[in-house]
Amino acid sequence: MAAGSTPPYVVIGGGQAGFWAADTLRKADPDRECILLAAEPLPPHERPPLSKGYLLGRQSRDSLLFRAPDFYAAAGIDLRLSCPATAIDPDARTVTLADGTRLSYQAAMIATGARLRRLSVPGADLTGIHYLRSVTDADSLGQALRAAGRVAVIGGGFIGMEVAAAARELGCAVTVVEAEPRIMNRGAPAEISDAIAALHAAKGVTILTGRRVTGFAGDRAVAAVELDGHAALPCDLAVVGIGIQPETGLAEAAGIACRDGILVDAWGRTSAEAVFAAGDVARREDPGSGLSLRQEAFQNAQGQAVAAAKTMAGQPTPYLETPWLWSDQYDENVQIAGIPAADDRLILRGDPAARAFTVLHLRSGRLVAASVINTIREMRACRRLIEAGLRVPEDATEAELADPEVRLLDLTRRLKGR
Ligand SMILES: Cc1cc2nc3c(=O)[nH]c(=O)nc-3n(C[C@H](O)[C@H](O)[C@H](O)COP(=O)(O)OP(=O)(O)OC[C@H]3O[C@@H](n4cnc5c(N)ncnc54)[C@H](O)[C@@H]3O)c2cc1C
Repeated sequence: MAAGSTPPYVVIGGGQAGFWAADTLRKADPDRECILLAAEPLPPHERPPLSKGYLLGRQSRDSLLFRAPDFYAAAGIDLRLSCPATAIDPDARTVTLADGTRLSYQAAMIATGARLRRLSVPGADLTGIHYLRSVTDADSLGQALRAAGRVAVIGGGFIGMEVAAAARELGCAVTVVEAEPRIMNRGAPAEISDAIAALHAAKGVTILTGRRVTGFAGDRAVAAVELDGHAALPCDLAVVGIGIQPETGLAEAAGIACRDGILVDAWGRTSAEAVFAAGDVARREDPGSGLSLRQEAFQNAQGQAVAAAKTMAGQPTPYLETPWLWSDQYDENVQIAGIPAADDRLILRGDPAARAFTVLHLRSGRLVAASVINTIREMRACRRLIEAGLRVPEDATEAELADPEVRLLDLTRRLKGR
């Protein structure tokens, strides 16, 4: 079949998921054309450095790119930059572009990611209030941080805390305001939150928990953050990191089933024939836990897109990987794998005072999740154990499990040897 003689694959979104989908489609079905529609002007690039090395000026813009710009034509991917899709019609199997062009497709992937949640409070339109999702956001935030003295970070999630670390490293006086009782409340167990809070405190960052931002004060530019109705926190610059919302507009308009994300099965299939979705925008059923998950993580965007693209190309592949994400703050590393629940039995391995430990989450005798700070090797073992779904031996004592000298994989071997 000659390229172009039959409808191409169309991938909407040139981020992590879109890039891996296009790359996989070309490899799995080299005879079919693949069009990659990217709303942004920069070729597909990764976001994690935007709150870390790139923000700090330690990484170049080129280093963000998944591939050099000339890769796409050579790989047979028709990459169209600054070219957002405006509609998808699953019945007609077409995608519409801003200039009205309609592209027919064999199968389409929606990989439109997410958009920022914005704070809607008085003063929210003052200058000096930043958000962070794109390279443009990072460029403008990086420039502003270098000129700022006092920085208020609104939201103590992973990205807020990474920005706080970067701002501190750039010499700013930093205060983090978090509405929940602890930072990183949504994604990390209390032990990890406490360790990260202690790290920031040691670096001189002030963290205010249980405080709500009710407005910004200032004359054109932000000069203070109002907390619980009072002008409480003077600042030269505010960065808001209060989460994201899946970019489901195209799918919803097309009648594709969505619920805080485009609903997909393990193969990335949506409710519409020949339309797939992957990445931050997709909510999938996890066959292991029975939970419905919408993940906002690098590994998920890539793995889910690769599996869905293979399925699109006629090689049905479920995405079954254990959720996993990481965060780098200063020189320290946090990783979280699996799906923790509030009533898991928790076991701490290692030394919280030295900020090098692992939290195991056990449920019905199985390791279901793990969180580590600065114990990367333990995380490798944990991920293998979680994925294998193996039970921890019943005769393994609490002391054994908590002893970092006892290797987790050895415990499992003991079990298998029976
Ligand atoms: C600052 C920052 C730091 C992060 N750090 C980490 C980390 O340390 N670890 C980790 O695991 N994860 C991290 N993440 C999360 C990770 O980057 C995301 O999970 C990942 O980028 C999701 O990929 P995606 O392709 O689904 O979405 P995106 O990367 O958002 O890509 C979606 C793309 O689709 C485009 N688009 C939207 N609508 C249209 C349209 N109609 N037509 C065409 N294109 C469209 C968007 O412009 C965007 O370029 C971080 C994210 C950010 C923002």
